[in-house]
Amino acid sequence: MRRRDFIKTTGAVVAGAVILPNISFGSQSSKNVVIIGAGISGLAAAYKLKQSGVNVTLIEARNRIGGRIFTHKFSEENLTCELGAEWVGKSHTRLIELCKEFGLELQNHQFETHLILNGEYSKSGGWDFSPGWKQKYENLLNHFNSLQDGSEEKNNFDKLDWWRFLVNQGIPEKDLELKELLDSTDFGESIRQVSAYAGIAEYAESSEKNEMDYHIKGGNSRIIFKLADAVGKENIILKTKVEKVEQKNNGVIVYCDNGNKYEADNVICTAPTFSLLKINWQPALPKDYLDALNELQYARIIKTSVLFSERFWKDESLDMITETLPHYFFHSTKNQDGNKGILTSYAVGDRAYVLSKMNEQKKINEICKALKPAFGDIEKYAEHAVNYYWGADAFTQGAYAIYNKHQWLDVREVLNKNNGLVYFAGEHLADWQGFMEGAINSGEDAADKILNS
Ligand SMILES: Cc1cc2nc3c(=O)[nH]c(=O)nc-3n(C[C@H](O)[C@H](O)[C@H](O)COP(=O)(O)OP(=O)(O)OC[C@H]3O[C@@H](n4cnc5c(N)ncnc54)[C@H](O)[C@@H]3O)c2cc1C
Repeated sequence: MRRRDFIKTTGAVVAGAVILPNISFGSQSSKNVVIIGAGISGLAAAYKLKQSGVNVTLIEARNRIGGRIFTHKFSEENLTCELGAEWVGKSHTRLIELCKEFGLELQNHQFETHLILNGEYSKSGGWDFSPGWKQKYENLLNHFNSLQDGSEEKNNFDKLDWWRFLVNQGIPEKDLELKELLDSTDFGESIRQVSAYAGIAEYAESSEKNEMDYHIKGGNSRIIFKLADAVGKENIILKTKVEKVEQKNNGVIVYCDNGNKYEADNVICTAPTFSLLKINWQPALPKDYLDALNELQYARIIKTSVLFSERFWKDESLDMITETLPHYFFHSTKNQDGNKGILTSYAVGDRAYVLSKMNEQKKINEICKALKPAFGDIEKYAEHAVNYYWGADAFTQGAYAIYNKHQWLDVREVLNKNNGLVYFAGEHLADWQGFMEGAINSGEDAADKILNS
């Protein structure tokens, strides 16, 4: 089964999981829906519902909308970088469509990858996987794409982790080291913690640059602001945390930390699993659902963006994979005018945690040290840095979900079930999991289910 088709197929299973009867409330215009979370999933759901005449109220715990889409502006220089979601993929059709609808320009954000390994620098094009492995890998991806959806052979990929699968295929040691360094930046933790199903689907079904294709001119948060305008800012309540959701026979009551409560015909909850588990659900969530929530982990990622007084790297399309603590780098200000520029370090797993413990100057030191084999002493150009460590984020405790072996097919299927009048959405449930596109798709799917109920 192709990743992108999976959710639609499981929709049939979902219907059987309803624990309270579905109630018809007559015309959609009389419906009230409360949406927990004003990230892109909640906003996309709200936009769709609003277009069908449904009254929506979004409740957001943070003091800002956007959740894991979080553009930072270095105001004096008029340069932006992303502390959350970075790339829009060529295959992310719904996001691209929304950008068009709202008049947002997509800029090229593709890079040519340089390498620092064993302290030695190789320019892009000056390093590669071994020819034998490259051919074998391509055959493996093609074979995966030829497999029947739902077939035993295809589903068996979920029984192994991505690292073990590659080892079993005889990947040479040096190629495996490169694969770990590169792929762990996609998943946010070691590939030893990633289902081989999720691993191979990621590369077999993605665009040539692995969905690292575009960026929204002016910052990805602009899609958030456009959606919020379309939904109506008066319908978005900030700095309010949902603490309890109680279902009665004919509706839902949502209780917030400030004592306010909201009545609704349906609720869409887009909270990541860490936050979702903190909500008091009445009636309680089914045991299999709770087990699945408890099983799923999120990746630890830190982004550290350093403003440099000069673009000493010369190559506007620079990105660089390294074995060092700051791990992976890319040029955030590609296509942004100016002499100054921003390089962002993207570190995952334990590296991210260690970096998060350092103060700003130490982080800058580590970043400059890591880049030294390529550019020499660059600390003199470093002005200052901003960072965000998602592993300690109060609402996600991670950047995005990471599906380990036995989880892609099993855990995700359970988490996609609705609970009576409450529907779940968010990045972690989507076929395009870990992407803005997936968050939009799952929000719109939840809206569709309500519209069709
Ligand atoms: C470092 C990083 C890099 C990424 N890179 C990319 C990329 O390059 N390309 C890409 O497409 N995607 C990327 N992503 C993923 C993308 O950001 C997410 O898939 C998407 O933004 C998730 O949207 P969401 O609405 O599902 O969740 P969120 O954005 O997390 O929204 C959920 C909202 O619910 C709120 N909430 C939680 N609990 C409660 C409560 N009890 N009451 C009220 N509100 C609550 C939260 O505050 C949050 O705002 C990246 C993410 C990170 C962190």
